[in-house]
Amino acid sequence: MHGKEHLAQQAFHDILGATVSAAGGLNTDQFGTFAGDIPRTLSPRSAARAKARLGMQIAGTTLGLASEGSFSSGFGPLVENMEILLFIDKTLGLELVEGAVNISALPGGRRVDNADSALAFASAAGFPEQGVIVQSTNDNRLTVYKNFTQLSDLEETVDMLLTDQSTVTILPDYRAHKSPARAETIRRLSYQMARRLATPCSLCQAPGFGQVDIERGVPCSDCRSATALIAADLHGCGRCTHRTRIPRGQATADPQWCDYCNP
Ligand SMILES: [Zn+2]
Ligand SMILES: [Zn+2]
Repeated sequence: MHGKEHLAQQAFHDILGATVSAAGGLNTDQFGTFAGDIPRTLSPRSAARAKARLGMQIAGTTLGLASEGSFSSGFGPLVENMEILLFIDKTLGLELVEGAVNISALPGGRRVDNADSALAFASAAGFPEQGVIVQSTNDNRLTVYKNFTQLSDLEETVDMLLTDQSTVTILPDYRAHKSPARAETIRRLSYQMARRLATPCSLCQAPGFGQVDIERGVPCSDCRSATALIAADLHGCGRCTHRTRIPRGQATADPQWCDYCNP
C-alpha cells in the first residue's frame, strides 16, 4: 500500500524472472502504524504473515510477500531498526524469512516546545525526502499529523498545536515511501529473498534453502568455555528437515567476550 512492491520488483525480476504486484485495495494500517494511532499488537513475524496472507486472499494468489519493520530505542539516542521480509508459497507450504537489524541514522522522536525545534529536527532528519510525523496529545487524546511536504506546513501545524496547549512530539516517518534508508533496507532484503528462492534444497529440491538460525559459542581462547560470539550459520529447507552448518571460521574468541574470564 505504500509502494513497497516497487522495492522488490527489480530483485525478483532480475533473479527469478518474476513480477511483484501489490494487492489492490489492501490496507495494512490495520496491523498497526509507526505513527502510533493504530497500535501494533502482533509480533513482527506474525504481522508480516498476516499481511502476506491478506494480500494473497485479495489477489487470489498462492504466493505472497510482505515486510514488517520495527523501530526501538534501547539505550541512549540510538534507534534500532529490525526489518523482516516474509515470503509464503501456499502450494509448497513454505514460509521464508529474511531479516536485517540496523542502527537507524535517524534521531528518535522528541518533544518540542517551539516550531523552530521541530523545523531543526526535520532538517536534520533529511526532510522532505525523509518524512516526519507530529503527534499531539491533549486531554489524553493522541492525534497524528503526517504527509507534510513543506517546512511551512509543519511550522503552521506545530504552532497551532502549541497554541492549543497540546504536548507535541516530532518523530521520523518510517513508512517506506517516506524513508529512503528504510526503503533501501527493504530493497536489499528483496535481493536476499530472491537469491534464497533461487537456491533449491539439495534433498527435496524445494526453493528457498537458506539461513534459518545462528549458532553461538565460539570457545574462549583462555578457558575454552563457550562465549556468545556466533560460531556458525545454520541453513535449512522450508519444506523438509534438511539442514547444513556453515562455520564462520573463528576458532577462538578473545577472553573479553568470555563470561568467566571477563564477567
Ligand atoms: Zn574464558
Ligand atoms: Zn528440503
